[in-house]
Amino acid sequence: MIVAIDGPAGAGKSTVARATARALGFQYLDTGAMYRAAGLADDPVAADLRLADGRVFLDGADVTEEIRTPTASERASVVAADPAVREAMVAKQRVIMSLGDWVAEGRDIGTVVAPQAEVKVFLTASPQERARRRAAELGVDVTSVLQDQTIRDERDRTRAASPLVAAEGSVELDTTGLTIDDVVARIATLAGAHA
Ligand code: C5P
Repeated sequence: MIVAIDGPAGAGKSTVARATARALGFQYLDTGAMYRAAGLADDPVAADLRLADGRVFLDGADVTEEIRTPTASERASVVAADPAVREAMVAKQRVIMSLGDWVAEGRDIGTVVAPQAEVKVFLTASPQERARRRAAELGVDVTSVLQDQTIRDERDRTRAASPLVAAEGSVELDTTGLTIDDVVARIATLAGAHA
C-alpha cells in the first residue's frame, strides 16, 4: 500500500508522515530530502542519491545536516522546477517504492509519483502557523521564515512542471490547531479502510 502525503512547506508533512509510517509499520520516504540533496549536487540529474537509516547521502557523502540549511531549501526549490531533475527524482522514487508498503511525503506523490496510491492526503495549515513551526524547529526568526516560505510556496505552486496541487481523490487535512496524534489517527483510519 502507498500512503501519499503532499502539501506546502511547514504543513507538518515530515512529522506526520514519519509518525504515520511508524503507526502503520510502513517504510517512510522523504522525497523533499532527495530534491534538497540534488540541489547541492554539481549535476542534480546524474547525482547518486541514497537514503538509508534516516541519513541522506550525495555521491557517497553524508549530507543529512547540510540539506536542512536555508540555502539548501532555496536551492532545492529552484532545482525542483527543472523538468529533467523531476523526471530523474520521480524515476528513483518509483523504484524505491516498488516493493513493500510506504508512506511517502512531498509535493507530487499523489499527482505524479504514485497516482495509484490507496490513500492520498493533502496536508495544509495557515501560512503563519507553518512559519511558526519551521522557525521553532530551526531556532530562527519567524518573520524571515515566513518571507522565505512565501517565495518557495509561490514557486512550488506556479511552476510549469508538477505544480503543487491537491491530487484528485485526496483528502485535505488542515493541521492548524490539531495535534500530531489527531492527524496520524485520521490518516491511519483512511489507510485502515483500504487494508
Ligand atoms: O519538503 P521539503 O521542504 O524538504 O522540500 C524541499 C523542496 O523540494 C520544496 O520546496 C519543493 O520545491 C521540492 N519538492 C518537490 N517535490 C517533492 C518534494 C519536494 O518539488 N515531491
